[in-house]
Formats: sequence, C-alpha cells, structure tokens
Amino acid sequence: LPLEFENALPIVQKLEDAGYEAYFVGGSVRDTLLKKPIHDVDIATSAYPEEVKTIFNKTVDTGIEHGTVMVLDHGNGYEITTFRTESSYTDFRRPDEVKFVRQLADDLKRRDFTVNALAVKSNGEIVDLFDGLTDLRQQTLRAVGSADERFHEDALRMMRAVRFAAQLDFNLDPETKLAIKNNAELLQNISVERINVEFTKLLQGKNAQFGLLALLSTGLNEYMPGLNHTEIDLWGYAELLAVDQAHTDAEAWTLLAFELGLTTVDVKDFLKLWKQSNELIQTIQRSLDLLNQLRLDDASNWQLYATGSAIDNALSVLKLSELTIDSERLRERYQNLAIHQRNDLKVNGKILKDKLNLNPGPILGKLLTVLEQAVVAGQVKNDETILLKYAADYLQKHPKV
Ligand code: ATP
Ligand code: MG
Repeated sequence: LPLEFENALPIVQKLEDAGYEAYFVGGSVRDTLLKKPIHDVDIATSAYPEEVKTIFNKTVDTGIEHGTVMVLDHGNGYEITTFRTESSYTDFRRPDEVKFVRQLADDLKRRDFTVNALAVKSNGEIVDLFDGLTDLRQQTLRAVGSADERFHEDALRMMRAVRFAAQLDFNLDPETKLAIKNNAELLQNISVERINVEFTKLLQGKNAQFGLLALLSTGLNEYMPGLNHTEIDLWGYAELLAVDQAHTDAEAWTLLAFELGLTTVDVKDFLKLWKQSNELIQTIQRSLDLLNQLRLDDASNWQLYATGSAIDNALSVLKLSELTIDSERLRERYQNLAIHQRNDLKVNGKILKDKLNLNPGPILGKLLTVLEQAVVAGQVKNDETILLKYAADYLQKHPKV
C-alpha cells in the first residue's frame, strides 16, 4: 500500500473495530493500481454519518447531506462517505435523493466506470464486482452496467468518460462510446461549470489527442459552448496535442482559442460563455493578441510589452502551436525591454507636473503614455532628465494636447 493508504489505515481499522465495513474506494485505488501518484484517499463505510461522528473525536461535516464526513487525524483530513445509492435522476443530472445503505455492492454499482468501482480492504484484498481489474489491464474505460442508462442518469459521465480516456490514456469500450454518441445531446442538462472542469482536465491529459478525437467523434462538442461546427479546428488542435502536452489551464485554453481562430474581442465572449475567471480571461486575451500578431508578422516591442505577465503563457503556447517561431528570441527581446511596466519609468505624473509646470489633468496621463511608448520602442533612454526634455519637446510640437 502507498504511504497515503498506510497513513489512513488506522481510520479504516477503527471503523472495522467498531463493527462496520470500511474500504478505500474511487480514484486513489485506480491510480495506485496504475502506479500513478495519488492525491487524496477516499474511504467508504457501512457506518451512517452520525455513527462515524461518534467513532472519531474530530470530524467536520463537509458534505453530510450526501453522507460525507471529514475525519481529522494527525493534521490530515480523510473524507469518509457512507455507502449510498442514488435514485430517480429525473433531470439527467445529480440524483433526486441519496439513500444510505449497508451493502458495499450497492455503493459500487452507482459508480461511473468499472475502473472507478474498485474497493480495497484494510488487509489489501481488492473487491472487483465489475471486472474493473481486467479493464485496468486492458486500458479500457467502460461504464458500470448499462452505459445508456448510466448516461441518462447523469449526463456529466459522458464528459468524464472522454476526460478519463485522455488522462489515463485508455480506450473507450465500444458500447460505452456508442452510448455517448446516442446521448450526447443530454449534455445540455449539465451546467457549463461542470463541463468546464472535465474539458479542462481532458485538454491537459496525457493523451489529450485521443480524448479530443473521442469527444468529436461522439459529437459531444455540439453541446459545448462555442464548439459546435468546429471539427476542423479541433482536429488541428488534437494534432498539436499529440506532439506535446498543455500543462496549465491557461495554456490549454489559449491554444484552443488560437486554433479556433478567435480575435481578442471574440475570445472574451467565448470564455464568458464558459464562465472562466476574469484573471484567466485576461491572460488568454493578452497571449492571444501576441500570437495572432505572430501569425501575421513579427511582433513589435510594444506588443511584447503589452503581453506583460502573460508572456510565459504566450510563449509556451507558441511552442505548442503550429507556428515555427523562435520563442527564445522573443523571450530575450522581452527581457531586454527597457521597462516592463509604467512604474519602471523614471518619471511619474507628479514629477512631470512639478518640473514642467503643468496643471493636473488628462495631459499627464497622455504624456506618460507617450514616454512609455518611446522608451519601449527604444527611441529614448529611461532617464529622468532625458524624459523631461522629451516631454517638453513633445508639448511644444503638440500644443493642443
Ligand atoms: P480524480 O483523480 O480526477 O479525482 P476520481 O476518480 O477520484 O478522479 P472524483 O470526481 O474525485 O474522480 O470521484 C471519486 C469517485 O466517485 C469516482 O472514482 C467514482 O467512483 C465516483 N463518481 C464521481 N462522480 C461520479 C458520477 N458523476 N457518477 C458516478 N460516479 C461518480
Ligand atoms: Mg478524486
């Protein structure tokens, strides 16, 4: 057992000592068997939440309505979830009610894929009711039970299928794949935030190319914001992801926007549809400005400067993209800019006002922009005396500003 399980073992044993069943379940079991690193271990038990709370001293009700209690132990938190079933999914998403049950089997059969439905006992014994071990070995993602029914119950599972296929580098079992194709339109019932989470993970998966092609061939993209009728662009994107991987959300989404051929204006609407954060939108917009320029021609100093803190993202995406431009040369040019923000200028509004005897007002901002552009372009040195002289000359030549 990996260390994370070893550390959690006393928790499982304590539940067993109290007369309940308890198992490690979910993604950490799958990933351990695949020899991948794991983040958090999930424990499932026959004990009801109230019973869990009487067994452990320190607990937090993190999701008690769906049966999850967090147990605190030596500074670690463990999520313990009561065996449960989910019933009557009338709206193709989350169940109308969860019911706590005492049987592990009932809990495992509500899980999405066979490789996610394995349980491990404290003695290391693996409970494998749906041939998940075979699917793990054969690298196949297969729905538990009838794929068609499972996607009707919860349409998000279709996105999870292509996401896991990409992340784990697994194939889709043919029946599971067909069921996605037949039910793709049910994705309309799922919130964009939840689709976003899965899609963002897919794009950064080890085999993102496969995940994206599976998404296209099942038609899921038709029900994703801004992605209907974009097959040709997305095929191009998939090709790029076959060569190299995106490592951050910003990289994945910037490259997507670039391959979709979006303008800086369009990209904002697109990302708003996806409910992306303003911070991410800004990074992508600035990166895309530079990339769209580079698609046409070399970038000016000012364009590099305007990219600002998005420069690392922009250059990473440049490397992933089909453009064959030397990103290191651009990085050097960026680093060698005389200034990187307006604050780096050796004059500010107050200095201009005092030394040039100006009245406060928009003129100061206008002058600062002029100086900023001249310094970035390398036309004038970033030195207080020189900048003041340049500003005075400028005022003489442009008396109306
Ligand atoms: P990850 O490494 O991305 O966290 P995971 O398998 O742990 O992968 P989670 O979303 O954390 O995925 O869910 C934990 C477990 O809960 C899954 O392994 C699966 O058994 C079950 N599960 C999660 N979401 C669903 C769902 N929509 N339908 C059915 N079972 C689900
Ligand atoms: Mg998980």
